[in-house]
This record gives sequence, structure tokens and C-alpha cells, in this order.
Amino acid sequence: MKRAAKLFASLAILLSVGLFVSCSSTKVEGNNQEHLVMATLWLQNAAEYRALCYQAFNLASEKIESIAGKKNKEGRPQAVIVDVDETILNNGPFSAAMILKNKSYGPEEWNKWVEQSSAEPIPGSVEFLQLVDKNKMEIFYVSNRMENSLGPTYKNLVAVGFPVKKENMMFRAAGTSDSKMERRKLILDKYEVVMLVGDSMMDFTEAFEMKGVDASWELADKIRSDFGNKYVVIPNPIYGPWESMIYNFEHGKKTEDKIEDRYNHLYPMTE
Ligand SMILES: [Mg+2]
Repeated sequence: MKRAAKLFASLAILLSVGLFVSCSSTKVEGNNQEHLVMATLWLQNAAEYRALCYQAFNLASEKIESIAGKKNKEGRPQAVIVDVDETILNNGPFSAAMILKNKSYGPEEWNKWVEQSSAEPIPGSVEFLQLVDKNKMEIFYVSNRMENSLGPTYKNLVAVGFPVKKENMMFRAAGTSDSKMERRKLILDKYEVVMLVGDSMMDFTEAFEMKGVDASWELADKIRSDFGNKYVVIPNPIYGPWESMIYNFEHGKKTEDKIEDRYNHLYPMTE
């Protein structure tokens, strides 16, 4: 974000927090979003976060260059599938705003953010997809943003330099599940998918869907050689299926119960 824009955004947030505190200071004291503070700080401040993203996209770029144009058995064109949120667009400002407003994720607030079309790209992602495009591979943007947010997301992607075709944006239709399996299948039927990039295991394979911690660890271990090859993972400490697992996939749980679940998933050293 440009420095002036960043300053303006910070001022706007501070002002809104100031108002909020004066109206309802007790709520801020017991911030239900406190658990997101360190993760969001890391995403918005750590050079290590940026370095990890560059590392992933550097390795992915090398891989793309090594396999570009290689013929496959069926003679199908090559394609790359990318997720959007926390894979190529950074929603740190949304997370920061939710913490400062003491609000949990909700479609109304989320849509406000999406409609701004102002998310910055994940470090290295624009250059990576430009390279994929240059190597004549088709790029599919498979996201669980809802279909009605396709317009503002397209505007956002174009504004920051992604090579994107609207017809290749496969967003989630109203009333459908968050599984990407069906959408991936449509692509796999026609293309040789050489790489999938995402921040969630569900961006790669449906095998991870609704799995608990132990099963997902086992599966990750089993396909370990795919990471950095076919599957490229971008770090996201803010949210993801890993958090859903901790709540046993019950997102409607009360805040107190979620806090208890989080503590129950800490494994301390023995004294
Ligand atoms: Mg994502």
C-alpha cells in the first residue's frame, strides 16, 4: 500500500476505534478477536512473511519454466489453478479492521471490503502469474468468494497487474458448498493441470475436506513430495480449515466455547 494511503487507512481505523471505545469501552476490553492479533501482526509486519511468499513463488516460477510446453499423453493444454484470498490477494486490512471493531467475520463486513477492490497482491504473486501467462499456460482463479463478488474482484486483480480473464474466474455459486472439487474437475477434464497454488489444503485436493487434525497430518505426510512441486502453499496464519478443525467444524459455537477449544489444542511440555 502506498504510504499516504496506508496513513489514511490507519487514521480512519483509529478514528472509528476512538468512537467505538467512547461508545462501548467494555467490549474493547474483552476483545473477541484478540486471538487474531499476533497472526495479523505477523502478516502485516514480518519481513519473514514476505520472504516465505517470495520463496514459494520463486520455487514455483522455476518449476513452471522447467515444465512449460512439455507434451502430455492426451495432448491437452497446460494450466495452473490458483486460489485468491491469502494466495494472491492479501486481506490483512480486513482482519485488522475486524480486530479493531471487535467483530467476527460476517458476510456484510466482508462484502464491504471486497467491494473496495483494494486488496494488495501477495508478495511475488503478480510476477509469478505473469510468468505463467508468458509461458502460455491457462490460469484459473478458483475461489470461494461468492459469484456476486466476481466484478469487484476482477477489478482488484486487474488493478494490481494479474493476467486475468473473467471466464477463468470460478467463484462459489450461491447455495453450494465450499468444496472446490466440482470446479477443479471441470478444469481437469480439459487441461493438464501442472500446478495448484493455495493457502488451504482444500485448494489442492478434496482428500483434506472435513478431516480432523490427525487425519490431515497423516495425509500431508503421505503426499509430502507434492509440496513445492504440484502443490505450492502460501502461509496464512489468520484463518483456514486448520481453525475449523479446532472447533470441530462448528463455526456457530459461542465465543467461550471457541476459546476453550483453542486452549484444548495447545500441547504443553511436561514439567
Ligand atoms: Mg485462500
